[in-house]
Amino acid sequence: MSFSDMPVDVGPVYEGERIRSKQMFVELGGPKIPKHFELVKVRKPSEIKDGEVILRGIDLGEMEEGSRHPIGILVEVAGKELEEDLEAVFERRIHEFCNFINGVMHLNQRYTNWMRVSKKAIEKGFNSFKQMGTILIRLFKAELPIIEQAQVTMITNADVIEEYYDMAIETYEKRDERARGLHDDDVDMFYGCVLCQSFAPTHVCTITPDRTSLCGSINWFDARAAAKVDPKGPIYAVPPGECINGVAGEYTGVNEITKKRSLGEVERVYLYSGMEWPHTSCGCFEAIDFYIPEVNGHGIIDRNADMKAINGLAFSTMANQTGGGKQMPGFNGISLQYIASPKFQIYDAIQEGLEHGIELTVWMNSELKERVKQFIPEDLQPKIATEKDVSNMNELREWLKEKEHPVVATWVEEEEEEEYEEEWAEEGAMVPLGTQTMTIPGAGGIGGFKIILKNCKVHADALIIKRIDKSAKRKKKK
Ligand code: SF4
Repeated sequence: MSFSDMPVDVGPVYEGERIRSKQMFVELGGPKIPKHFELVKVRKPSEIKDGEVILRGIDLGEMEEGSRHPIGILVEVAGKELEEDLEAVFERRIHEFCNFINGVMHLNQRYTNWMRVSKKAIEKGFNSFKQMGTILIRLFKAELPIIEQAQVTMITNADVIEEYYDMAIETYEKRDERARGLHDDDVDMFYGCVLCQSFAPTHVCTITPDRTSLCGSINWFDARAAAKVDPKGPIYAVPPGECINGVAGEYTGVNEITKKRSLGEVERVYLYSGMEWPHTSCGCFEAIDFYIPEVNGHGIIDRNADMKAINGLAFSTMANQTGGGKQMPGFNGISLQYIASPKFQIYDAIQEGLEHGIELTVWMNSELKERVKQFIPEDLQPKIATEKDVSNMNELREWLKEKEHPVVATWVEEEEEEEYEEEWAEEGAMVPLGTQTMTIPGAGGIGGFKIILKNCKVHADALIIKRIDKSAKRKKKK
């Protein structure tokens, strides 16, 4: 495979290239454009023309510097051994292959795809989507020899995107619905993916029926199909091994492979917890599940939300904290499908005396709540606040009390806590502020230490970390 006819270099060395706004010629898709997508469909050989790139809309070189445009990428493939199950996995490779192009940055997937093309690439002569489509076709056929023919349609016209958009959304939904019928206990094999290590070198995804990948684009069926056709590729089988903790979703096989693939960085994973040994996050998660210590609950904000969450932070601010391949208790990148899973953060709920992970959710941005409403138990739906209901923590706290949200039952009586703290203070010991853990972002769950906070405001001139002499701990008076 050669790219000598292309004006820019192409290769894995350019994966991870960042294009900042100052370096950018144009932006395609992304959160500020309402409709955009990327999709792979398996077709019959007679339905496509191998090597053909079709452009619908204005071309790259015709765009104004600094402008933003919608983008639709439809890759149609054919081959004797191709099956529909492989579409999602091929589709995820669009991210990787676009990033092979020097001067192109691609983020996310499905209907959240987001690209930038650099000024330097344009100066070198990379000024047509036909070039981009040709590169994609060559890479698809070279990297995945099971693909015998490929055709690419690049769309930049918003009206034309509209024609394809519903079909793309229906395809994603059909894939997700199929996966929702299967659960972790029904299978004897999990799968892993390290496609995002170019951006987050220690990030390792574990994909199980109950835990769709956090990018939302690879479910258990997709991963199984990918591992079958390319067992040495970035998606591979993970024999779960012994189940160490069924509630937390800790398995010896998952721990071993995660440790190996993260180069020793991540040693343990609780698949169903956002607070203890959580799954790592790369950067392309669909939503963030974040702990709200003030109410001992969780909020969820999705990638498209153009607002600040109830904790005062925007998605992008929290994404910086959440991503990068670290275990970050209290900040988890998740897929929307995981919210529908019966295993969704169930370990954390059970630690708090609740039955279902979703019962810990106290806040969602309104658009997300509408999208996942069907997955939320009916009686809980009116109890989860959105930005339309509350605007600060006091209001949230009052809302939860008034609506009798299940999380209220987990609040420890304040008087009880005060008495407890006084006793510790009498001993001159540092005061543990409760049992609900929240790791201060940055400390991570990997070695180091955790600071445990609960419903508190901290004002301090100095922070002293001191080992507690257990003999000094006095029993609480009745
Ligand atoms: S988020 Fe996970 S499953 Fe999705 S492409 Fe990245 S590593 Fe693979």
